[in-house]
Amino acid sequence: MSCDLLKLATPGVAGLQPYHPGKPVEELERELGIGDIVKLASNENPLGTGDRALEAIKTMADFSRYPDGNGFSLKATLAQYHGVESGQITLGNGSNDILELIARSVVSPGQEVIFSEHAFAVYPLVTQAIGAKSVVVPAKDWSHDLAAMQAAVTGNTRLMFIANPNNPTGTWSEEVPLRRLLESVPEDLVVVVDEAYCDYVEEEEYPQCIRWLHAFPNLVVTRTFSKAHGLAGLRVGYGVSHPGLADLMNRVRQPFNVNSVAQVAAEAALHDAEHIERSVVVNRNGMQLLIESFDQLGLDYIPSVANFICVDMGRDAQPVYEKLLHKGVIVRPIAGYGMPNHLRVTIGLESQNEKFITALKKVTRRK
Ligand SMILES: *Cc1c(COP(=O)(O)O)cnc(C)c1O
Repeated sequence: MSCDLLKLATPGVAGLQPYHPGKPVEELERELGIGDIVKLASNENPLGTGDRALEAIKTMADFSRYPDGNGFSLKATLAQYHGVESGQITLGNGSNDILELIARSVVSPGQEVIFSEHAFAVYPLVTQAIGAKSVVVPAKDWSHDLAAMQAAVTGNTRLMFIANPNNPTGTWSEEVPLRRLLESVPEDLVVVVDEAYCDYVEEEEYPQCIRWLHAFPNLVVTRTFSKAHGLAGLRVGYGVSHPGLADLMNRVRQPFNVNSVAQVAAEAALHDAEHIERSVVVNRNGMQLLIESFDQLGLDYIPSVANFICVDMGRDAQPVYEKLLHKGVIVRPIAGYGMPNHLRVTIGLESQNEKFITALKKVTRRK
């Protein structure tokens, strides 16, 4: 963009770095002219969309009408599923939409938003876009340091993002420190617990925060259908909160932010427990294979409870990423997250994981 037009931007937007998504398969095909590409870069479900959602979509034949702007049926289903009221649910065009809606609803320019170092890239994006101030709290052993995040709260802090588990590190926060943090922060500070990957977590101490909502009117829990439910392409997620916060987000959101196909598919996917169970098993086995392979290769990694893992190349990972591309494997470089030596790899199907490991062995072989 020419400099003159850049001058039109608000100060927050002028300083924004656009989000860099994982490289699409089609793009690499065009660039290298190769086929049979494996993409392990965006934490999508390698089993794809579940049958229940696919069948529900196939019953739809007419798209001439606007979707239900209030998402009545999907909200009712979600409310029943979580044991909350419909009025506590806010539907989003992906859960990223919710992250933005809450920031725009409660944070004014110049106020502070707290999140962790190495946390999800969308937190600084939505913060900066509204002219608020990002307060980045150093991570501890790649994890959120909840005590330090609590200590960073000032009278000017309005919002805190906690990813549990976190992307890209795959680390998680335990029940006791998380609850302690929620009890300690002022009531005019909204805490978002982003549970995008909760379906994959098998740790007994992992807290699903929706059951804490009655105790914390300033808590928003976000969930998505993009990951374990296999609906990333349809863009649908939601927030669960006190109805008062849901009301604020509903004022800000676009009237038809979740399309009709997404609403129908999400409702069906929510009840496809079998698909989630299969996905979790595939993930568990794939994670095991990758960890064993990293151990064999002498590569360090960050233990992860999600559907991806960060492996430490022990040097700048960008050249490794590029060599993997030439072998038809797309992973995610995460220098933008302050992790230049790591690559984030989504757990795939067995054959995909093996292709990645074979390629990794070739590109890391010492000459
Ligand atoms: C993928 C992801 C999301 C979900 O994004 P959608 O907009 O729902 O596709 C939210 N939070 C984190 C930490 C993620 O990694």
